[in-house]
Amino acid sequence: MYATLLDGTEVAAATKDALRPRIESLAASGVAPGLATILVGDDPASEVYVRNKRRTASELGIVDVHHHLAADVTQGQLEDLIDRLNEDPAVHGILLQLPLPAGLDGEAAVDRIDPAKDADGLHPENLGRLILDRPGPTPCTPSGILRILDHYEIRTEGAHAVVVGRSFLVGRPLAVMLGSRSRNATVTLAHSRTRDLPDLVRTADIVVAAVGQPRLVTRDWVADGATVIDVGINRTEDGLVGDVDFDSVSERAGAITPVPRGVGPMTIAMLMENTVSIAERRA
Ligand code: NAD
Repeated sequence: MYATLLDGTEVAAATKDALRPRIESLAASGVAPGLATILVGDDPASEVYVRNKRRTASELGIVDVHHHLAADVTQGQLEDLIDRLNEDPAVHGILLQLPLPAGLDGEAAVDRIDPAKDADGLHPENLGRLILDRPGPTPCTPSGILRILDHYEIRTEGAHAVVVGRSFLVGRPLAVMLGSRSRNATVTLAHSRTRDLPDLVRTADIVVAAVGQPRLVTRDWVADGATVIDVGINRTEDGLVGDVDFDSVSERAGAITPVPRGVGPMTIAMLMENTVSIAERRA
């Protein structure tokens, strides 16, 4: 392996350490930041994600308020719960684990969250603020990716970033953030209809793969020395793998995130940071 390993676990630890004094200072003024997590149904992957988020919150002294609803809950019942959490002064951040089981409208449920308590940064108002470069909670996975780049001093200024995958959760907000005035990358947002994707990716200084296809990005797609960020989490017979063929790509890339221990831990750390920032704004 030749590439620098971008260790998300290490950056997440640094991010959480930086939160501890902020949480102590909130406590000194009588505020305990609270994160409400809502899990609907029994999807095993979602259960793992929510468990990890709750565990991290508790480790940091963030109050863990959890609601597990049955898969056959009605949209009305789910939205009533969100309304109650919106009103609860002990709850600063609300996280609704997506996707929801069939029959429920995830978009309508996210719309229902008070934008000021939107710890995931996915409410339309907050995505609008992101495009306008105004402060507010930002989506956790894209923010975590930027934090990894900052930690390892990988410059985005003037770089060509190719983001593969245009989901509202990852690719689209990340493309906006990389192209913002504070980041100044030149961004290409690629997706399933992009022509000649390997040729395009080869022009990138920074490649982000957020697709959900195991080992899609191989060595011959990547320019020498490029930075490769692998967002994918794919459960295969070989265990958890990313969207990047780590072994071959790391022979050519300049820096690369692994899966696991890459972007995943950062998503959780940024959720905690959003929750603490919301609590500070309200303190
Ligand atoms: P999604 O399914 O919502 O979007 C996938 C995107 O990939 C779409 O925009 C689609 O156009 C594009 N795509 C599909 N096939 C393609 C192809 N062959 N070539 C180019 N583009 C293609 O997925 P998502 O929610 O953005 O998640 C993507 C992956 O990232 C998944 O594996 C998911 O589990 C993972 N993920 C990880 C984290 C984390 O914290 N590490 C967070 C969110 C998502």
